[in-house]
Amino acid sequence: MKKRFINPKYYATRDPEIRLVNTFDEFLENMAEVAKENYSKVLGYPTAGTSNMEGFYDWYVNTGMTRVFMNNAGDPFGDSAVNLTTMSIERKTIQFMASLLGFNRDNVWGIITASGTDGNNHGIYFGAQKLKNETGLLPIVYVSKESHYSNKRLCDLQNLEVRLIDCDDMGRMKPEALRAAIYPGRPALVIFSVGSTFKGAIDDQQALNDVLDEVNPVAVYRHVDAALFGGYLPFTEHHDIVDINKCGYQSIAISGHKFFGVDAPCGLFITTNSVFEAQKSFKVGYLNGSMPMINCSRSSIIPLKFYWIIDRLGIEGLSEQAQTILENTVFFLGELHRIGWPAWKNTHSNTIIMKKPSDKLTDKYNLAQGYDKALGGALVHVVVMQKVTRELISAFISDLEDEIMLG
Ligand SMILES: *Cc1c(COP(=O)(O)O)cnc(C)c1O
Repeated sequence: MKKRFINPKYYATRDPEIRLVNTFDEFLENMAEVAKENYSKVLGYPTAGTSNMEGFYDWYVNTGMTRVFMNNAGDPFGDSAVNLTTMSIERKTIQFMASLLGFNRDNVWGIITASGTDGNNHGIYFGAQKLKNETGLLPIVYVSKESHYSNKRLCDLQNLEVRLIDCDDMGRMKPEALRAAIYPGRPALVIFSVGSTFKGAIDDQQALNDVLDEVNPVAVYRHVDAALFGGYLPFTEHHDIVDINKCGYQSIAISGHKFFGVDAPCGLFITTNSVFEAQKSFKVGYLNGSMPMINCSRSSIIPLKFYWIIDRLGIEGLSEQAQTILENTVFFLGELHRIGWPAWKNTHSNTIIMKKPSDKLTDKYNLAQGYDKALGGALVHVVVMQKVTRELISAFISDLEDEIMLG
């Protein structure tokens, strides 16, 4: 049982070491200590854990920006009514990623979102609106059973009919199951997972597109949920997996706090002009016109942080990080196999699924838990992010070996 928060005492963190303090200042001090000690051991969740925003915060404090509030309310590619924004940097960030995803420079629209979920919300909403404007019909959404729960939740919120498509044992949407599910008389809004959350599966867009061509529904919109993998794949030789020209998708969502390591939740939603123009947006006078996006106020600070990281690391630094995490994933899986522990990974994935170790180890490394009969029952996954060094991998392997020896 987790201990409950009881006023006026503060718990400096949850496990592994709960420290009870009396004031909020003490809480802050203790919390920082415990967090620094433990952040790198979090293996189950995809945080980079290596971004260093020190220079950014120096600028923020030294220039007195701590006393300024800005707001990116409005369309970053439009004519904003708000004078104090960072929309030019927001556009630069979108353009930077869009070009790596193969978008034509003149055919990009996007925003920096509040999260990957927010990006999926826009993908589903924009897709449904576009299809409805084209055909007069709302789409049926097709998404795999292994896709992130947000997609199903968001369809629920948007009152869209959803068909959940079966996956193979490694978590990829089965083309034949999609074929069987599609009703060609209604538009199809298909969500592809590029990096499913638990198993790190990449839906085979080529094969699924062949099915869509064959069944030929009245209209099709493809949204790619690439929250984690969409961060690093563009910086690898496997960039075709998320290239708009190779895949033919209409929009893509990528998280900013996963691979890129922005220190607060955020993301990218990127689409084309024709999708943007197909939105029946409200005219909002005080924001100079069309407001197609769902949120009104958006952060002005996040785009600066996002671009700070891109500017400091550049394509070279980000490519290096992408290569390192993929190499370390292969190393990690090799080590698990060496000691005879059941473990799997998908191609081009930095997520390893394995048989669940003891509760103690699961807790120590904050492993994310799952269950799959086809893979032997109780499972956990690790996500090999930048903070997951070979040293940490070896420490984990040695803990696991000790556990195996003790039976
Ligand atoms: C993490 C994740 C999400 C949710 O993204 P948030 O940024 O946490 O909202 C959606 N889809 C996939 C595949 C994810 O891995």
